[in-house]
Amino acid sequence: ISFTEVVTPTLYSTALWERSGHWEHYSENMFTVTSEGSQTYALKPMNCPAHCLMFEQRVRSWKELPLRWADFGALHRNELSGALGGLTRVRRFCQDDAHIFCTPDQLQEEIVACLDFVRSVYQVFGFSFHCLLSTRPTPCLGEPEQWDNAEQQLERSLQQFGERWELNAGDGAFYGPKIDIQIKDAIGRQHQCATIQLDFQLPIRFDLQYVGRDGQLHRPVMIHRAVLGSLERMIAILAENFGGKWPLWLSPAQIMVIPVGGNSESYAKQVVRQFHDAGFMVDLNDDQGTTLNKKIRSAQLAQYNYIFVVGDKESESRTVNVRSRGGKQLGKRPTEEVLTSLIQLRDTRSNLNEFDVNNESLMLFMSVLHVKLLYRRGGCYSWY
Ligand SMILES: [Zn+2]
Repeated sequence: ISFTEVVTPTLYSTALWERSGHWEHYSENMFTVTSEGSQTYALKPMNCPAHCLMFEQRVRSWKELPLRWADFGALHRNELSGALGGLTRVRRFCQDDAHIFCTPDQLQEEIVACLDFVRSVYQVFGFSFHCLLSTRPTPCLGEPEQWDNAEQQLERSLQQFGERWELNAGDGAFYGPKIDIQIKDAIGRQHQCATIQLDFQLPIRFDLQYVGRDGQLHRPVMIHRAVLGSLERMIAILAENFGGKWPLWLSPAQIMVIPVGGNSESYAKQVVRQFHDAGFMVDLNDDQGTTLNKKIRSAQLAQYNYIFVVGDKESESRTVNVRSRGGKQLGKRPTEEVLTSLIQLRDTRSNLNEFDVNNESLMLFMSVLHVKLLYRRGGCYSWY
């Protein structure tokens, strides 16, 4: 499935927020500005009303559905200062937000696709997770049959998805039921980041309609969905999950190049350019006033994944002397070879830190592991 990325404004007239219902229930959490003395605008705390405006700008047909719009727009929420905390709760943030407008009979398939998306993202980070189905609270808006139907569809989607889930009765939003996904990080803490929420109310408030196969007008269902949630908060969770030691593919400080001696400086700059051109975050420390040991130490403290030391010998042989972040000396290696290995390590989004596991030793490792597991499990072949 694919999403279309859209860009929507940050500032809207309060008329929009009155229409969406945010003004009535949420205005104390919104930042407002006044223009020409009378007109009040508010910074958006969420993207949903903007996407409703996009939907209603012309007549929609069933053939266009599902419409999937992704929006990384900046959101502002006027949180109380006591509620703020590091990157976990901020007043200005972005979400990997998306809204899906679909027909009621597309709902189950769309929800399963959202859940699959969540799983594929969380697998990359190594998070385990489970789902919570939150059903209607009291009071809630909408018809009981509509709720029954939606809750059943969500339940069927969860069964089809096949991962562990629990019922969280009465904890849905007043506008529709939802699936919250709880992750468990490396130190066993639970976080709720992803959410998949059905919304019956916004399509009514914005009077969203599409022309169905039967030529009649119908109301679409709206799904709010985020996988990482607030990107700022996810960065905080990941920083703690990895203990500040980012795997290469996520690291903001991947390589530090340190020249030793005046003649190696131009070669060091060449190495920097070569890795920069291959898309790496690479820096050069050519400060003449510090010793080599201090430079290595400060690069290690700054958590650079790799440190390349280059002197005259390396310059002549087109090599780099590699150390990993943990202080492991990987020695003098041809620069081209290191580049190829690091590209592979980065592009496979490996959470390992060693790049010199070549395919042969990996195969050997896997076969030893396989034999050990077979032995332990009494010859059970079902493991693979
Ligand atoms: Zn939304």
